[in-house]
Amino acid sequence: MTRPLHPDTLAVREAVERSQYGENSEALYLTSGYVQPSAEASARRFAGDEDGFTYGCYGNPTVASFERRLAAMEGAEACMSTASGMSAILMMCLGLLKAGDHVICSQSMFGSTIKLIGSDLAKFGVESSFVSQTDVGAWQAAVKPNTRLLFAETPTNPLTEVCDIQALANIAHNAGALLAVDNCFATPVLQRPIALGADIVMHSGTKFLDGQGRVMAGALCASQQMVTEKFLPVLKSGGMTLAPFNAWVVLKGLETLDIRVRAQSARALALAQWLEAHPAVARVYHPGLASHPQHELAMAQQSGVGGAVLSFDVKASDPDQARQRAFHVLDSLKVLSLATNLGDTKTLCAHPASTSHGRLTEAQRQAAGIGQGLVRVAVGLEHFDDVTADLDRGLSSF
Ligand SMILES: *Cc1c(COP(=O)(O)O)cnc(C)c1O
Repeated sequence: MTRPLHPDTLAVREAVERSQYGENSEALYLTSGYVQPSAEASARRFAGDEDGFTYGCYGNPTVASFERRLAAMEGAEACMSTASGMSAILMMCLGLLKAGDHVICSQSMFGSTIKLIGSDLAKFGVESSFVSQTDVGAWQAAVKPNTRLLFAETPTNPLTEVCDIQALANIAHNAGALLAVDNCFATPVLQRPIALGADIVMHSGTKFLDGQGRVMAGALCASQQMVTEKFLPVLKSGGMTLAPFNAWVVLKGLETLDIRVRAQSARALALAQWLEAHPAVARVYHPGLASHPQHELAMAQQSGVGGAVLSFDVKASDPDQARQRAFHVLDSLKVLSLATNLGDTKTLCAHPASTSHGRLTEAQRQAAGIGQGLVRVAVGLEHFDDVTADLDRGLSSF
């Protein structure tokens, strides 16, 4: 009997079999088609009766290595990758929902998620309710006879609100619905939603999985049956295929995910504490702070680590001044980047109200709690003193 391998080991080892050349690092296969051994074998492969690659849209060995590795790290049976995080959400919705079905989401989800589910899918007759992230009772109260999916993101972007995955899984399952969790912020290093009862884990590979801000990627981790029966058909008809090169970059990123997430999270907590003591800062949002409203839940659910993203509100007397001051902090940066990605080794700062949440209506933005003075910091690996000096330049000169 061999013992099951630990997540650290799977993160560097899980992949498809080596080629006949015995390469130690997983190969990058750039090919759109695959030569078939026979017409009969080809027919069986297209029918799904035999394993084997057929066409670049449907599968690729490098992409398969990424999928196997991420599934192993999430403790899922299977994974289906996509071209971006948003196309993973689109695949999930197209695969699981039809006109007349109802979805419940948190009102503080990623801006494009709110737009996709609340507006784009509404055109096709999918109903949705957006509820308070942290109020379990509100999720329960929103359940209807046609509810098919609960979709949560925890911690949220950018306010790091945490929801109780286990409680939401119970609500979903009692209603005969599924729970999907966007695990972009915590990553499987800190949080494994499937072990807590979630049915689907969604990822933007663009963020921590890549980890160096290079490529777009997305993924859904779920049961083998759901991947084969619900997601693969959408991939074949929708074509939101992850490019092999991008899969290779993200596959390599998974190897260092654990040490990056832990190191960046430690720096984020130290920065959150520094900001909390800064006279120009009104409020800091980071799950590792004792002042965070769901601090205890976050620590229990996220392996005792708050994550590498934080946000803060500058002190101001009105929304116009708040926006002006937040812009001043961002425009005073000389080392950190003014950029809207996250999970990069470079620290990235952004103004959510005019970027990630800029397409929302003012009412949606207020429901999500995104004020004009809010600055998000996705903490990277720079020296702590250089990060604080760069932020202090603007914060100390309003
Ligand atoms: C970035 C992000 C997405 C979307 O991913 P893309 O790869 O940009 O399409 C979804 N959810 C969260 C929490 C994100 O941060």
